[in-house]
Amino acid sequence: MQKTKFVFITGGVLSSLGKGLAAASLGALLKARGLTVTIQKLDPYMNVDPGTMNPTQHGEVYVTDDGAETDLDLGHYERFIDEPMSQRNNYTSGSIYYSVIQKERRGDYLGGTVQVIPHITDEIKSAILSIAERPDAPDVALIEIGGTVGDIESLPFLEAIRQMRGDLGRDRCLYMHLTLVPYLRVAGEHKTKPTQHSVKELRSLGIQPDIILCRCEVPVSNELKRKIALFCDVDPDAVFSSVDVGNIYEVPLKLFEEGLDQKVAILLHLPAKNANLTPWRTLVQVAANPEHSVKIGIVGKYVELKEAYKSLYEALNHAGIANRSSVELNFINSEEVTTKTVDSILEGLDGILVPGGFGTRGVEGKILTVKYARENNVPFFGICLGMQCAVIEYSRNVANIAKATSEEFAPLADDKVIYLMTDWFDHRAGCKVYRDTESDKGGTMRLGAYPCNLESGSFSEKAYGCELIEERHRHRYEFNNQYRQRLEEAGLKFTGLSPDGELVEIIEIPEHPWFVGCQFHPEFKSTPMRPHPLFRDFIKAALENSKG
Ligand code: GLN
Repeated sequence: MQKTKFVFITGGVLSSLGKGLAAASLGALLKARGLTVTIQKLDPYMNVDPGTMNPTQHGEVYVTDDGAETDLDLGHYERFIDEPMSQRNNYTSGSIYYSVIQKERRGDYLGGTVQVIPHITDEIKSAILSIAERPDAPDVALIEIGGTVGDIESLPFLEAIRQMRGDLGRDRCLYMHLTLVPYLRVAGEHKTKPTQHSVKELRSLGIQPDIILCRCEVPVSNELKRKIALFCDVDPDAVFSSVDVGNIYEVPLKLFEEGLDQKVAILLHLPAKNANLTPWRTLVQVAANPEHSVKIGIVGKYVELKEAYKSLYEALNHAGIANRSSVELNFINSEEVTTKTVDSILEGLDGILVPGGFGTRGVEGKILTVKYARENNVPFFGICLGMQCAVIEYSRNVANIAKATSEEFAPLADDKVIYLMTDWFDHRAGCKVYRDTESDKGGTMRLGAYPCNLESGSFSEKAYGCELIEERHRHRYEFNNQYRQRLEEAGLKFTGLSPDGELVEIIEIPEHPWFVGCQFHPEFKSTPMRPHPLFRDFIKAALENSKG
């Protein structure tokens, strides 16, 4: 196929309808039909990226190989279509305006008046086309517009996608609208009015949807689908149900049963090939019939916020499926873990995980948690801040560095076993990068994929089954090499290092049943079809622990 075709996905009635999951699932179905697919998210907010937003506001910041800090929906995209996302897969109003304003300052507009139409809309269109006009252009690009139709801030995006049908032609653009069809229990029926209003709103902006996807508790009847088709002026076979499911990986199967990918293929004149969904069916089947169960404690700061650790929970879910086990997650607020409470809170867990995080709050509770896991032989997995806490704990309680800490918590302390590195080798840039601690107060983070060599025979090398890996980072602080020898002599193993040996990426305690801390975020690369090896082996160790 020559030219990329576009499916634009908008949402109506209310937010959180699962547009991201719908896009990801349609992507999975098209990929299962043998097509190449990518997905892009356009977010209407003014932040240039979600990197600076609090997890309570925006949920997890998903990091790509090229070091972009993106919307968590990109995590769904990678998990469902198993294609790496990049900076190009996520734009915000902020990033679009930022680049227009930079061009204006440079004088690129040659004295013209810079306006939302055409300058902002053109910038949006070129952002969309940037994923298509490439040597590796996919057959289909799904473009998800964040927010809800009717919001002021999404207007330029809707205008841009409206124009694209004129620019590219009808057979290259398709509009799919996701809407809510509530079920009124008292009346015992579905209600279509919100859908009608939302489509009316979309049409008033010049976009006539081709497909309507109805988010619903129970499937919408054929009769009602015909009614929606009539009122919203779409083909009678272009209205689909997207029912609530227990396991998100069932969504592609449900949408396939509805015939969504078939209709998309017909409307866009895509090759008529049946989707091979055997891997998805097997996955859902295994997930629904676990043979074991395991209890994992997650000790962190935002544990109550499901969205803040989205990829982490998914990675644990994938690892459970890989071990044919259900994974019961116990969320523990680290601020509640004290020397008095630690035993009673953590008792009975088969495995303990301390995830990533920022700031001082709750850190002592995390360090106590590591001590508990180490001393009681409970399989332990520390990720990013979790690894840093493990280093601090080992330094204090085993290597006799009583006041060991991180520069993040105590900038003036003597024994900063975790500290702010001022320069390191950036393999993507092919040179050393320097941090300007004066001007940006250490604002730059080490972001994106970095290579790491694994020590043969270590837990990590056994898990990955190879010696060179690449994992994604998002942190400022690093292990301080001044303490490497002392900790090594005290029994801590540095089993994962950057190729130049300077950056500590993984630490382990070999005598422990399974004790691994990693500076990177492995959860970003776990997919249901390729569960992450570290998570898989962590759950395996926890299962062995549960069987005593
Ligand atoms: N706050 C720590 C750092 O910046 C860890 C970050 C993280 O866990 N993602 O290094």
